[in-house]
This record gives sequence, C-alpha cells and structure tokens, in this order.
Amino acid sequence: MNFSLPSDVLNIISRLESRGYRADVVGGPVRDFLLGKTPSDYDITTSALPGEVKAVFSDIKTVDTGIKHGTVSLIIGGEQYEVTTYRVDGEYKDSRHPECVTFTDRLELDLSRRDFTVNAMAYSPRWGLTDVFDGKRDLDNRIIRTVGEPELRFTEDALRILRGVRFASVLGFSVEKKTADAIHTLAPSLGRVSAERIFTELKKLFGGISAYRTLLEFGDVIATVIPELSHLVLPDEERFISADFYTRMLSLFALSVKSRPDEAFSAAMHRLKSDNPTRRLGTAVLSELSKHTLDTPASAARLLSVLGERGALEYLKLETLLSRFGAKEEAVLTLAIEKKLPYRICDLRVGGEDIASLGIVGKEIGDVLASLLEAVISGEVPNDRAPLLKFAEKLKAENRI
Ligand code: ATP
Ligand code: MG
Repeated sequence: MNFSLPSDVLNIISRLESRGYRADVVGGPVRDFLLGKTPSDYDITTSALPGEVKAVFSDIKTVDTGIKHGTVSLIIGGEQYEVTTYRVDGEYKDSRHPECVTFTDRLELDLSRRDFTVNAMAYSPRWGLTDVFDGKRDLDNRIIRTVGEPELRFTEDALRILRGVRFASVLGFSVEKKTADAIHTLAPSLGRVSAERIFTELKKLFGGISAYRTLLEFGDVIATVIPELSHLVLPDEERFISADFYTRMLSLFALSVKSRPDEAFSAAMHRLKSDNPTRRLGTAVLSELSKHTLDTPASAARLLSVLGERGALEYLKLETLLSRFGAKEEAVLTLAIEKKLPYRICDLRVGGEDIASLGIVGKEIGDVLASLLEAVISGEVPNDRAPLLKFAEKLKAENRI
C-alpha cells in the first residue's frame, strides 16, 4: 500500500521520526485514502508529548488550541495540521467528555479510544498500515462497527451514536447489527449532547449519498434530536437523492409535519442553534408551501415578491423534490430572474417623489407604490413611467387609496 501523502505531512512525520518519535497519519485521512478519496485534512498521531512536538517544530508557527488533550496545531503554508499525542481517555462522566486524558506511548491504545474501526487506522511510510481492529476489512465490506463494545462506547460518548449514523449516510455503509442495536437503544442519550454538535452531524447526515436509506433505518435517532420529525415521511427516493441537504431537510418537515411545518422547522432550528439565515429562509419557504404555481411570468413575479430570489429558488427546489414542480416551472422562474422581471417596489420605474408630485402624501405614497407593483406583477400595467403615473392618478381619482 502506498499512500501519496502531501509533502508537508511527510516532512512533519520524518522530522518527528528523526528525533526518535513515531508519527502516523490517523483516522479520517487513512479511511478516505483507502476509499480512493482525497482526504480533506490530515491528522497526525505521535508518541511525542505536546511540549516535545513544540520543541521539534520550534521554527514553525504552532497553536495550542487543544493542548490539554494533547493537540498542537502546526501552521504550514497556510494549512493547519493537528498533531496529537497518543492518548487514552479517562472515565466519561457526562456521556460526552472524558474526566481526564492520559498520554501513552502505545499507538494501539490511542487507536482503541477511537469510535469506529474504519476511523481507527494509522499509516506512516515507514510502518505502513496499522490496523489492529480490522478497519480495512470493515471498509472493504462497507460496514460501520464500533471499536469494542458498542453499548460501552456509546455510553462513554453519546455523540458517537449520531456519528455512526452520519458515517453510514455519508459513506453509504451499513451499520453492523450489534452497533445498530446499541444505536437504537441508546439514541435517547443524545439529549446530553450539545445542540451545535448535533446540528453539525445532522447536516452531514442529511447530505450523505445514502441519506435516504439511513433515514429509513434510523428514523428513531432523528426523532430523538428532532421530535418534530417523529412521524417521518420520506419523499420520492430518486428526487430525494438528487437534492441537496437543505432541500432534503425541508422536504422532511413538509411531509412529516401535518400542521404548520414552517413553525415546526423554525422551532427545531432554534433548538439546534442553527444560524438565522438558515432558519429564516426555510421557515419562509415552508410557510408558502403549495400556495404557488409557476406557470406564467406573473406567478413567478408573485413568488419572487413573497420570497425574494434565494427563497424562490429554494421554493422551486422544494416543490420539485415534492414532485409538484418540474422542468416547466423551473424554466418560468429562471426566465423571470434572467429577464429581471420587476417584483420589488424598487424595481418600479417610478418612485415616491413621482407619486408625491401627484399630490399624494404620507403613508398613502407607500400604498400607491404597493398597488402599482401589484398591477405590474399581474400584468395589468406595464412597468413604464407614463402608464404607471396614469394608473396612480386613476387610483387617486377613484379614491382607491
Ligand atoms: P471527517 O471527514 O468528518 O473529518 P473524521 O473521521 O476525520 O471525519 P473527525 O471528527 O475529524 O472525523 O475526527 C478525527 C478522528 O478522531 C476520527 O477519525 C476518529 O478516529 C476520532 N474521533 C473523532 N470523534 C470521536 C469521538 N467522538 N469518539 C471517538 N473517536 C473520535
Ligand atoms: Mg477530520
């Protein structure tokens, strides 16, 4: 086996080796490499203690972010490499954090604290693959299995429950029977995990290549972290697979929550400490569910006026995933956006001053502009100065404002 490691990683490993320590790439990058994927980052595990790592790299910028847990980050060429001393975790008291961590000089012990066999392999050019828990076998068979007893490992750290489901979804793996049983049994303990960590995992889970299959099998786990989705209803599988994580998530609320999916989504996002734009956009889109057609320029302008461009595009994606919209609707909306169809007050070719010059004052100016926009959107009046002013005068004359 020959991993092509980036030169910075090779340098880090060989520098530690030249000072008598051992260093290996570990976890995610080894897994990804064996799967033929390019790793997104490279974590390194070493027998050197944190102070020793810093001494070896005294000429390089280091950051002590995780030093209590043995992690020194090296900043090389703008990239960050985490170098972590072999460690074993102490007793877990709160289903999440070990009471203390102890450094060790044995790589096997460091690998044994890791969550899943496929995440518990190490590799270095000198020592090749270190795989004491048959991670390679599980990877070849596409299986997620805990290192050691699943119940114990999930009791130590409940986040692993959701990580297991996430890896199954993202890698398209199945979960080994005992591991899956423990996930189902212990899912309620996810209540002790922080909202931020849960949401990070959920986003990856919903976006996974096997999310559909995984949701079918682990709907109970989703229900523990999003009770609003307790009666999970999934959309058409093919359409689900071709959607992105966000539209997938919205579709689950649209189908599973019978009354006010928008409010349910908002409450769930609030609890999961989602960022505001994510929460607001989805809430607005869900509140318009089934209310629009997209068959004429006017209907496109109306949708745009309610949701804005981003919202309208998200609405299109959602209704498409729900099989209500298709290529025709997409064409209508795309054209409306391309042609810059007017849908906001500021798109009108007249402004407040023009209306004021007709002798209209105060709040009524806004009302007239809103009526003009409505008339433009519905196609009643073209968006040009003269007809707009004429229409405004008519409104005034007929006392319709
Ligand atoms: P990703 O591609 O999402 O980064 P990863 O496997 O690199 O996947 P990280 O969260 O970056 O995941 O963690 C790095 C490694 O640390 C994992 O591969 C695993 O060995 C170990 N690990 C991370 N979280 C836990 C945990 N909660 N319990 C045990 N081991 C963990
Ligand atoms: Mg990682």
